[in-house]
Amino acid sequence: MTLILEDIKKSFGEEENKTEVLKGISCEIKDGNICVLLGPSGSGKSTLLNIIGGIENSDSGKIKIGDEVVGEMKEKKLTQYRRKHLGYVFQSYNLIPNLTVKENIEVGAYLSDKPLDIDELLKTLGLWEHKDKIPNQLSGGQQQRTAIGRAIVKNPDILLCDEPTGALDYNTSKEILKLIEDVNKKFGNTVILVTHNDAIKNMADQVIKLKDGQIRHNDMNEKKIPAM
Ligand code: ADP
Ligand code: ADP
Repeated sequence: MTLILEDIKKSFGEEENKTEVLKGISCEIKDGNICVLLGPSGSGKSTLLNIIGGIENSDSGKIKIGDEVVGEMKEKKLTQYRRKHLGYVFQSYNLIPNLTVKENIEVGAYLSDKPLDIDELLKTLGLWEHKDKIPNQLSGGQQQRTAIGRAIVKNPDILLCDEPTGALDYNTSKEILKLIEDVNKKFGNTVILVTHNDAIKNMADQVIKLKDGQIRHNDMNEKKIPAM
C-alpha cells in the first residue's frame, strides 16, 4: 500500500525550550519500494520513522496508508495497524534472550493473521542451521537476521528499519542490507530504511534526505524502475 505523508510537524519541549524537529514533511512512498532516509544525526529521521510506525504522535499533518489515516486511529485500531501493517527492525536486535531463533520468529508470526511459512523464511534468511540456538550463541549479523525474520514473518505492508546495521562491521552490514533487498524482492513489502551506510544507494528506489527537519532531496532512482 502506498504511504502518503502530508505536512507532518513535530516539536519537542515546552515554550522557550521548544524545538521543531519536523517542519512539514510531505512525500509519497510507493508500494513495494525501498525508500532510504538519509540525513545528519538529529535531523529527525528516527522521529519520522516513529511517527510512521504509530509509536509517536505528530503535532499536525496526516499519514495515509491505503484509505486509512494513522493519526485518526483509536488505540485499538492503532495496535492493529502496528501488528498488521508494520514490521520494525532496530539497531539493537531486541530478541528475547531465552527463546531460540525459531521461537523468536514465531513470536512475530503469532501477531499476524497472514504469517509467512517459518521454515521457508529461516532458509531464506540463512538461519536454518541456527534455528535452535539462543541469541547469545549468535553473531551480531545472525541476531539481526533473526530480528528481520521476526519483523517480516508477519508479512507486513511496510518494514521500518532504523539503523539496522549500526552495530555491525562493514562486511556484515553489506550482507544485512543485501538481505533486506532480497526480502523486499521476494515478499514485496515496502521498506523504509534509516542508515548512514553508503552501500544503500544502489538498492534504493527512492532516496529522501532530511536536514533541519525538512526534506532537502527526494529522488527516485530511475535505474531501478522497471520499464513498462
Ligand atoms: P539516532 O541518531 O541513531 O537516531 P538518537 O540518539 O537521535 O539516535 O535517538 C534514538 C532515540 O532516542 C530516538 O528514537 C528518539 O526518539 C530518542 N531521543 C533522541 N533524543 C532524545 C531526547 N533528547 N530526549 C528523549 N528522547 C530522545
Ligand atoms: P535522527 O534520527 O535524524 O538522528 P531524531 O529524530 O532521533 O534524529 O532526533 C531529532 C531531534 O529531536 C534531536 O535533536 C533529538 O534530540 C530530538 N528528540 C528526539 N526524540 C525526542 C524526545 N522524545 N524528546 C525530546 N527531544 C527529542
